[in-house]
Amino acid sequence: MNALTRLVSALQGAGYGGRLLHNEPMAPHTSFGVGGPADLFIRAERIDELIGWLRLVHAYAVPCIVLGSGTNILVADAGIRGLVILNACQSYTIDEDGRVVAESGVSLRELARHTVAQGLEGLEWAVGIPGTVGGAVVGNAGAYGGYMADVVQETLLLDRDDQRRRVRRAELGFGYRTSALKRVVAGEQRPIVLEVMMQLRPGNAQDLAARAEQITLQRQTRTPRGACAGSMFKRTQHYPAGFLIEQAGLKGLRVGGAQISPQHANFFMNCGNASAQDIVQLIEIAQEHVWRDFQERLEPEIELVGAWPEAAVPEAIHRGG
Ligand SMILES: Cc1cc2nc3c(=O)[nH]c(=O)nc-3n(C[C@H](O)[C@H](O)[C@H](O)COP(=O)(O)OP(=O)(O)OC[C@H]3O[C@@H](n4cnc5c(N)ncnc54)[C@H](O)[C@@H]3O)c2cc1C
Repeated sequence: MNALTRLVSALQGAGYGGRLLHNEPMAPHTSFGVGGPADLFIRAERIDELIGWLRLVHAYAVPCIVLGSGTNILVADAGIRGLVILNACQSYTIDEDGRVVAESGVSLRELARHTVAQGLEGLEWAVGIPGTVGGAVVGNAGAYGGYMADVVQETLLLDRDDQRRRVRRAELGFGYRTSALKRVVAGEQRPIVLEVMMQLRPGNAQDLAARAEQITLQRQTRTPRGACAGSMFKRTQHYPAGFLIEQAGLKGLRVGGAQISPQHANFFMNCGNASAQDIVQLIEIAQEHVWRDFQERLEPEIELVGAWPEAAVPEAIHRGG
């Protein structure tokens, strides 16, 4: 019996067989809408399930990736080997001092909308960001001058040795669109965010609602509609990535079913039938042209996860899974 089969037996024995999906296509679980099948796929509704399953996969040495909403990843056409756990742990509490304790599968934008309505300041920049609180901590999500790093006080992690550990902000190594967690390649037993403690400030509910509304309107006009993963590349030290890609003459460029958005050059779109490989080719073309024309290196914000053939992935792209 191989490790995967033993894991399936263990999950079935623990009563989870009915929730375990085999060869589950990943496209519907990502905002890009691309990606081949995961060997095994299961949705965690509770933190104790998440912890129990992670301990099992480690015991059986099965590769595993925990996903939030899949809005910052590109899954390989060949899919993902091992187990994918979709994090749907969605409880949170807010106390009278504005301290939020959220399970990592909570929707960031829903939490932001709720705290704005409660007159709590600190997350209004996040009203339009899809994804979970856990994914947002990993990538230090941010917009309109706000970042997760500004509000996160502490996280509860499941560490590599399967122990729960409270980690304070200073230890999380936050940087521009990154954290100490993101720097661990996703497939190499990255610590998993279970809960996030955030401190918000009392504010004026009307002012906050107006600010949130303004941000929502700006996002609606600036963000291309369709299947994508938000911004493809980080800003370079000198320029916004979209400006460089546009100046390189690549706006609107298509490879197969993928296109650099004609509206905003840092958004790479799946026009309906893109493969993951089409998108990677566009990434590579953008990196090459911007380097050739401006000597600026474009670093992807998104992570590549799954079974990528080595030759298919340009060296400059950060890989996970
Ligand atoms: C239309 C659109 C607009 C966007 N706008 C913005 C924006 O303005 N600013 C911004 O910063 N981002 C933006 N994004 C990108 C994305 O929404 C954010 O980065 C978001 O925080 C990712 O969260 P997620 O749950 O989807 O993560 P996923 O894509 O599911 O995961 C990302 C990575 O984090 C890991 N991960 C997820 N959850 C956990 C966990 N609990 N513990 C450990 N690792 C975990 C995954 O394994 C993966 O490696 C946008 C995306 C889209 C599609």
